[in-house]
Amino acid sequence: MCDNFRIMKALRIHGNKDIRLEDIPEPIPGDDEARLRITNTSICATDIEEWQYGPLWTQHDGPNPISGQEMPLVLGHEISGHVESLGASATGLEVGDRVVVNNVRTCGACFWCRRGSQATCNSMCVAGLSANGGLAEFMTWPASHLIKLPENISDQEAPLIEPATVAVHAVRRSGVKVGDNVAVIGCGTVGLLTMQGFRAAGARVIAVDVREQSIALAKELEAHETINASDQGAHTQLLDLTDGIGPDIVAETAGAAETPNMAIQWTRPGGTTVLVGIYSATPNFNFNNIVGPEKTVIGSVAASPGDMEATVSLIAEGKMSVKELISAVVPLERAIEDGFKRMLQPEKDVFRILISPNG
Ligand SMILES: [Zn+2]
Ligand SMILES: [Zn+2]
Repeated sequence: MCDNFRIMKALRIHGNKDIRLEDIPEPIPGDDEARLRITNTSICATDIEEWQYGPLWTQHDGPNPISGQEMPLVLGHEISGHVESLGASATGLEVGDRVVVNNVRTCGACFWCRRGSQATCNSMCVAGLSANGGLAEFMTWPASHLIKLPENISDQEAPLIEPATVAVHAVRRSGVKVGDNVAVIGCGTVGLLTMQGFRAAGARVIAVDVREQSIALAKELEAHETINASDQGAHTQLLDLTDGIGPDIVAETAGAAETPNMAIQWTRPGGTTVLVGIYSATPNFNFNNIVGPEKTVIGSVAASPGDMEATVSLIAEGKMSVKELISAVVPLERAIEDGFKRMLQPEKDVFRILISPNG
């Protein structure tokens, strides 16, 4: 058989509740691309949402302008791998380099890209959502969007750089100042990473969740204070911890029906609420809760150029830690049974499950 038509295993999304482990042709790198042998890809809550409620973010109404691809697509957007080959004009990398995939590509030409707001690019292309991703043995991606891993970040830790980047983007957008009081609602993977990002920025961080396991991990990851929000007096506790004023910033990462409202109410007058969750519910909201106390409410999604590089440095310097968030490592053959189905369980006891397609 010709080399160009070798077959690999890949996990593709075909539509709502339809993911399949399939044999597809191995990708061939374009001129400016590298071909990666995938070491680990972690499963994100977004992957589960796309599978159960999607396609929402998965490219499904025509090809993405940057990748030219649409569903069925290989899932997986938190990806690390080893460079196996390089296109003729790919620069900055060598065969054998260990890399993390900077999964967000933008057009560079639209109104938003030109004014430095790449996270809202019209044509944004995300690996695993609008181009083939990392739940496969191999993947191709522009060399310019691959970041070499420092020695002290392992192949297993590396996929977690992506959710950590989402957290760092939110921290940067918040305008946090050293010494600020910050509450982070939700201590899932992104919440615990957001908490660490604010801590690295010099804030005093209060982690809030309803699950004891998550609160315990927040403590282990050095939250200054923790609050169990299933206690009646959670808001009172928060006020007690902030001299009756309330936090300067509240970051909402839980994505639950009632938590955005809670986040805005808990923010001190004149403070900032950062919404990082993706919301499936559309609750009624009294907007006077923003107007009267002159609060600022901002959204934060994905990442801007430079965010992932900054995150790699923070992890390499020990200012953010990701290894505590790895709950299991599973081969690609078991990705649906031991990965996706386990993540779906309502009482899931996992943060991130890593899939290692090459054993
Ligand atoms: Zn994700
Ligand atoms: Zn653009």
